[in-house]
Amino acid sequence: MNAPVQHQPAVRTTCPYCGVGCGLIVQPDGRGGAAIAGDPTHPANFGRTCSKGSALGETLGLEGRLLHPMLRQLDGTLARAAWPTAIDTVAEGLSRIIDRDGPDAVAFYLSGQLLTEDYYVANKLMKGFLGGANVDTNSRLCMASSVAGHRRAFGSDTVPGSYADLDEADLIVLTGSNAAWCHPVLFQRMVRNRTERGARVVVIDPRRTVTAEEADLFLPIAPGTDTALFCGLLVHLAERGAIDTAYVEAHTTGFAEALARAREIAPDKAATARVTGLDEAAVAHFFDLFYATARVVTCFSQGVNQSAQGTDKVDAIINCHLATGRIGRPGMGPFSLTGQPNAMGGREVGGLANQLAAHMGFTSPEIDRVRRFWNAPRMATHEGRKAVEMFEAIERGEIKALWVMATNPAVSLPRAGAVRAALEQLELFIVSENVRSNDTVNAGVHVLLPAAAWGEKDGAVTNSERRISRQRAFLPLPGEAKPDWWIVSQVARRMGFAGAFGYRSAADVFREHAALSAFENDGARDFDLGLLAEMTDDAYDTLEPAQWPLPAGEPPRETRFFADGGFFTPDRKARFVAPEPPALRETTSAAFPFRLNTGRIRDQWHAMTRTGLSARLAAHLPEPFVEVHPQDAGAAGLTDGGFAQVSTRHGACVVKVVVSDSQRPGSLFVPIHWSGETASCARVGDLVAPHTDPYSGQPEAKATPAAITPVILPLRGFTRTRREVALPEGTWWARVAVAEGAEYRLATAHGPMVWHDFAYRVLAGDAKLAEQLDGNVYRAAAFIDGELDGCLCVGPADAPPQWDAAALCLDGGDHGRLTARISNDHIGATAPVICACFGVATEAVRKAVACGTARNIADIGRTLLAGTNCGSCLPELKRIIVHERIAHPS
Ligand code: SF4
Repeated sequence: MNAPVQHQPAVRTTCPYCGVGCGLIVQPDGRGGAAIAGDPTHPANFGRTCSKGSALGETLGLEGRLLHPMLRQLDGTLARAAWPTAIDTVAEGLSRIIDRDGPDAVAFYLSGQLLTEDYYVANKLMKGFLGGANVDTNSRLCMASSVAGHRRAFGSDTVPGSYADLDEADLIVLTGSNAAWCHPVLFQRMVRNRTERGARVVVIDPRRTVTAEEADLFLPIAPGTDTALFCGLLVHLAERGAIDTAYVEAHTTGFAEALARAREIAPDKAATARVTGLDEAAVAHFFDLFYATARVVTCFSQGVNQSAQGTDKVDAIINCHLATGRIGRPGMGPFSLTGQPNAMGGREVGGLANQLAAHMGFTSPEIDRVRRFWNAPRMATHEGRKAVEMFEAIERGEIKALWVMATNPAVSLPRAGAVRAALEQLELFIVSENVRSNDTVNAGVHVLLPAAAWGEKDGAVTNSERRISRQRAFLPLPGEAKPDWWIVSQVARRMGFAGAFGYRSAADVFREHAALSAFENDGARDFDLGLLAEMTDDAYDTLEPAQWPLPAGEPPRETRFFADGGFFTPDRKARFVAPEPPALRETTSAAFPFRLNTGRIRDQWHAMTRTGLSARLAAHLPEPFVEVHPQDAGAAGLTDGGFAQVSTRHGACVVKVVVSDSQRPGSLFVPIHWSGETASCARVGDLVAPHTDPYSGQPEAKATPAAITPVILPLRGFTRTRREVALPEGTWWARVAVAEGAEYRLATAHGPMVWHDFAYRVLAGDAKLAEQLDGNVYRAAAFIDGELDGCLCVGPADAPPQWDAAALCLDGGDHGRLTARISNDHIGATAPVICACFGVATEAVRKAVACGTARNIADIGRTLLAGTNCGSCLPELKRIIVHERIAHPS
């Protein structure tokens, strides 16, 4: 990390990635860059960061940024426009369509990356002034089932516990959560509890992810059967006399029905094992651990939420905690780990189609209350369309105008190819974005609005434990970029609502949001920021991380919920839920015999808009891949490092094959991150079925029936250029971040002549081109004034070209310079990098462990430095140690 330059004050802000919500200290360098460090005083991370957070300084450049409003012209091109023209176009277009077709013909699609203030203004405009409720968000793909599960059980979307519970628990159950990669800083906190206090960790997941490396017990559950496991647990707890009868009787209803249903689904350990595909002894071990441990936290995330039965799964988990009274007390409770940085803030605002505002729904008194608070002329009267329904309505032509803010639905939604096609039919398609080009923007946008990015915008986010932190600006707004709340307010003013959208600052918006949460809130609603409603601008600027319920009175109010009941239902009692028996919506078949699971990798975030700019982060897993069990790989004729087509009824992708016994037989795993911008054919959203949960509307992204077949591409190689290029038609490619320009990993059936032609057309230009053909290995390098401007190397797939070999063979008298550049940029590395902080290759760690130089994590740190900074790679280092010990027992 660069030494801080002291001429600008350091700024305390919050990481823009996952729901852990780490505090950061940013030291701007005055040249558009900044040094980033964890904030030791922030209660979410106490100074720690993961690989993504620590690489934020490498992602601040303006390359590819959208800096001015753009409007679609009659000839189909996009041209720069002035802000007033762009605002007029949006306002007039929305008014025209609403006047003609009603408010349900327009929709906003928001994002968990928006700040609370942005969310608040967009939600208010749609639900109070345009008269519809078609406001949904990419959080629908992330944690909507947790929201629905909380509301069914608690009467409110309340996360009962705090991160501190993970320090105090004696048993941590992680189900459907690869926390080691998706919530790394929080996971390291759990690991510390295990190491220092002896807490036990149970990991429940169809895949043996790196999270399982820290597990005392790993349960490789069959996809979609979590409900049965927790029903079996409830039955077991009842039979062992572990029910907290006093709590159940005083604070809950529906226990008998829930237990009866659990007995139908999983009457005993043997039945539980049968349904879940688990070993009965392992099931018994888990049940015994849960029974015997009072302080237990059950963490769940996308593996539970992203399911057509996600809400039932969440409630089956909550049932076990309610039944034992293990909720809201130190070290106890169900804990939803939120995926996105401000998914929780969006929930607080009510920026989901089935919420109205500030944890209020669509009952008549709630609609009336919000109408009076906003002085709203045209209130929404019913729920809007949730994400998948919203895009289906666009496909059918029922929604005619869509405004997308800070997200990329053409990549992330199920049937993403169909979504992309539907966007092209819109009468009015508005996108507020940071970047000039992405799959959504390229689907026929009419109005493109430049939004402020992380580091430029100012506002609040809320993390998984209900802690509100400030994201603060430390860079000037580039070009004509504006905060999202400002853009929406300008449109609202232009539509005639100036009195209600006269905000001058993010602080103005936040104060109103806080006031609404407290409006006529006599304790009937959990969410109440009334203490912040009168805060001054200075107080907002210096706001310390604040967890709600906000501390009021003496002694301050408890920061956990429900230890003594007090649920937010009409009778203040929690509801046990009797879940449906687990059943995946679609069965596998001879044509599609596998289950396709999708998810995140350690060093990338969503569609890589920001993380994809860091060469350091790209080095971990640079190419899109499918993970497949060795047994399945053998049967399908797949080889590790080869290519495969993965297909479903909805689409197909071609990705590299990773053969791994971490994968469950019969299942495939493909990461979500690659888009049409970063790879030729790796948009996994295209393959995902649109089945949704009946309560949450969250799509099933973990179990689409799929097929896999080998793809033979006889030549492999790479090209590196100063600018983005189009590779010859039919080439498989993946773009990889490098320090300057772009690197493309490629595989092809095209012979050397096609690449010779490409080199002349694309690489040469004003450059001097050096070429070499050696058998069917083709190499070319372009130099301008002795500087390497671009290079290309293609050779047989069974002996793919190496960068260092290319450097030695290239002509032009610049070997030394070229070799130095290659070495500096790590582009010679063909093996993935395991430690992003110090650029340590996986192979180097493997060799050190195999030859005995490093026998444990401390040795690896001492000899190679890997794992000694952010710690994100520690679980993978442990996995290598275990595997090498098995392979080479001493
Ligand atoms: S764990 Fe990593 S990605 Fe998540 S908030 Fe912290 S630094 Fe950011």
